[in-house]
Amino acid sequence: MNTNPIPMIDPAAEYRSLKPEIDAAVGRVLASGRYVLGPEGEALERRLAAFTGAAHAVGVNSGTDALHLALVACGVGPGDEVIVPAFTFFATAEAVSYTGATPVFADVDAATFNLDPASFKKSITKKTKAVIAVHLFGQCAALDEISRICKENNLVLVEDVAQALGADYDGRRAGSWGDFGCFSFYPTKNLAAAGDAGLITTNDKKHDETLRMLRHHGSRKTYLHERVGWNSRLDELQAAVLRVKLSHLDRFNQARRSIATRYRQRLAGGNLVLPAEHGRGTHVYHQFTIRSARRDALREALARESIAASVFYPIPLHRQPAYEAASRGLSLPVSEKISGEVLSLPINPLLDEASVDRICQVLAG
Ligand SMILES: *Cc1c(COP(=O)(O)O)cnc(C)c1O
Repeated sequence: MNTNPIPMIDPAAEYRSLKPEIDAAVGRVLASGRYVLGPEGEALERRLAAFTGAAHAVGVNSGTDALHLALVACGVGPGDEVIVPAFTFFATAEAVSYTGATPVFADVDAATFNLDPASFKKSITKKTKAVIAVHLFGQCAALDEISRICKENNLVLVEDVAQALGADYDGRRAGSWGDFGCFSFYPTKNLAAAGDAGLITTNDKKHDETLRMLRHHGSRKTYLHERVGWNSRLDELQAAVLRVKLSHLDRFNQARRSIATRYRQRLAGGNLVLPAEHGRGTHVYHQFTIRSARRDALREALARESIAASVFYPIPLHRQPAYEAASRGLSLPVSEKISGEVLSLPINPLLDEASVDRICQVLAG
């Protein structure tokens, strides 16, 4: 049997597949002498606004900063509560804590892994100011219901789109539904920089202006600082790399969807729970995440064949040491159960069919 290692992701292979274009873009920036806040970043912002259907886009340093600055821009601070799903990457809650507000954890839907609107609604108090709807693993959360609950309760809707650039819901792209859409271009994401980078979309011109100020030391005019801000700019080299890759994103997302289809065909009829599609829009398969009570044994069987698989996420956020004390007594049964069962399989766009078949054979074994 073939024993070549199969990694979860292969950023260098993605680079090799686009090398002439990326090298030309990087060379252009280096030769220009303009490295922070310039034409590459502006062009990327315009293209991503058009791509998502949002009116404005503001490049920042990371997805975590995107979430943090979005919350600051809408006035979230000490004394406020922000509802976040317990089953997501830690940064979703961390960004809330940066503002001095309290993250309040809600449960998720076991089939889609996304925020359960009923649990969200139950978690609302007088102090709730906003909700962060995470589009986990590449599929949008239930945006119609979540938007409706936000309107009824006068809450800000922040979309965490770190894993779902290109996904849509009822015909509208992720990042255009909420007051803010927060994106990450960390090297593992569907649109991957060669380092840290992020971006915020918004339909509100005021928010756009505030975000531009916040990312640049609270300044709009050189050496005039209207408030205390941050240094959180997306640099020109990253923007240039991202512009190249963005022109291939639809093709790459389509490749992920084809791999997911092959996984479904090969794994159908087995005793693994396959990820559900809600049927309301495109899933861009940042991860292909199965569930099994035998998760650890499956992961070890794959490892014996040099096949990588990852557990996103092994500990729900209300059980993380950083939030445990504040969450004592809180029970979120779905998040607690699935964190012991989930296993994400390799699904990068360059993964070939033979590798998918080999992975499925081991899982069936
Ligand atoms: C990656 C990620 C983030 C954080 O993005 P960074 O660019 O790494 O700061 C936030 N939320 C989710 C769901 C993520 O996957």
